[in-house]
Amino acid sequence: MAKRDFYEILGVAKNASEDEIKKAYRKLAMKYHPDRNPDSKGAEEKFKEAKEAYEMLSDASKREAYDRYGHAGVDPNMGGAGGPGGPGFGGFGDAFGDIFGDIFGQGARGGRSAGPQVYRGADLRYNLEITLEQAAHGYDTTIRVPSWDECETCHGSGAKPGTSPTTCTTCGGQGQVRMQQGFFSIQQTCPKCHGTGKIIPTPCSTCSGAGRIKRNKTLEVKIPAGIDDGMRIRSSGNGEPGMNGGPPGDLYVEIHIKAHPVFQRDGDDLHCEIPVSFAKAALGGEVEVPTLNGKASFTLPEGTQSGKTFRLRGKGIKGVRSGYAGDLFCHVVVETPVKLTERQKELLQEFEQLTNAGGSKHSPQSKSWKDKVKEFFE
Ligand SMILES: [Zn+2]
Ligand SMILES: [Zn+2]
Repeated sequence: MAKRDFYEILGVAKNASEDEIKKAYRKLAMKYHPDRNPDSKGAEEKFKEAKEAYEMLSDASKREAYDRYGHAGVDPNMGGAGGPGGPGFGGFGDAFGDIFGDIFGQGARGGRSAGPQVYRGADLRYNLEITLEQAAHGYDTTIRVPSWDECETCHGSGAKPGTSPTTCTTCGGQGQVRMQQGFFSIQQTCPKCHGTGKIIPTPCSTCSGAGRIKRNKTLEVKIPAGIDDGMRIRSSGNGEPGMNGGPPGDLYVEIHIKAHPVFQRDGDDLHCEIPVSFAKAALGGEVEVPTLNGKASFTLPEGTQSGKTFRLRGKGIKGVRSGYAGDLFCHVVVETPVKLTERQKELLQEFEQLTNAGGSKHSPQSKSWKDKVKEFFE
């Protein structure tokens, strides 16, 4: 049977907010809840369908995968990007907590009829700080991340050699217990075995019953050229291990770019300030500027004012997504000379007299400023 569109099931628009999705689901869940429709197979189906749609669309990463790849993106059997690890993946979200969360237990979680729940391992995040140059040119590095090995003493069972785990009597090995709470029948993770369905009477002393030992491993990370601050690189399967045979989570390397002494980055563009002497700004000439790929230069026209920006096309960062190089914006700062000698002062005074004698044509900014002030007072 073809699967219906999740948005259609909930009756919401593709761009519906989290809140709208939650509300739509709550409405359907109340309407089709099996406790209210005890004999209706149709209602139960509708309830399951709504629950699945809600589980997918209320999780931002699953929703993104679904929007991009459709059902294949979130179908555990497809192994596609961003898919949930498998039946029983993750928490149910906060809409109902435990009330509706696991009401159908394994039945609604991929057709499993018995046995403990399978959990996908948690995702891990690693914050990696790099320089702007490394971001611009790409950077291969290694990081130390946690990893887990099967315990050699108990071979993963968690039980002391010679003993073996027993089936949890509280849940009968289901990992789930059903409780009556008012009008709802609630299925919860078994408090005794924490969902594993097993009890370890004599835990392995090497791993304290966990069945695995945490170690660190070195992971190679290839950071593509052009990566920007806050972007994440996914390392599939390098998160925490799953439970009861569930798949491991993923590791996300989140990029943080250190502040640069010369350049400020804005997307793929770079900005920098270029101090220029007052004489050079007046006379014009070549100005040499740094870029992330060596030096470049531009021609400063005669009479350049402070604050003027020059754009050097293609001298920014080649974007990791766009593949195009951004631009370098050079902001000219005209520098007032300091610590002058007597001779320099004399020359400047002479220069000032000549400039004043020449009238306002030498000072375009003062001229327009005076005009404005005049207008204002008249
Ligand atoms: Zn062990
Ligand atoms: Zn149990």
